[in-house]
Amino acid sequence: MKKRAIGYDYGECEICNIPMQEKLIKQNFWIRGKLIVVEDVPAGVCPKCGEKVVKARVGRWILKLIENSDRIAKAPRISVPKIKFDIKEARV
Ligand SMILES: [Zn+2]
Repeated sequence: MKKRAIGYDYGECEICNIPMQEKLIKQNFWIRGKLIVVEDVPAGVCPKCGEKVVKARVGRWILKLIENSDRIAKAPRISVPKIKFDIKEARV
């Protein structure tokens, strides 16, 4: 099923000068030490470098979503792998 996006013209990527394509993306936010994933965010994505832009109104709505502690409390949980970067192991 194709999801409905908002059909906004995001213009061109400032780095590559090619048109951004609208996609529904996942965005991750760390709020007070907790990771919150917001799904299906309409965004312009550069097909070449992956640069992402969101409309100002979309950005403001995301801020409302991630400040809504009721909604966050009721949201489904996912578990994610956590890996430590070990400097000795990496020999960097
Ligand atoms: Zn680009």
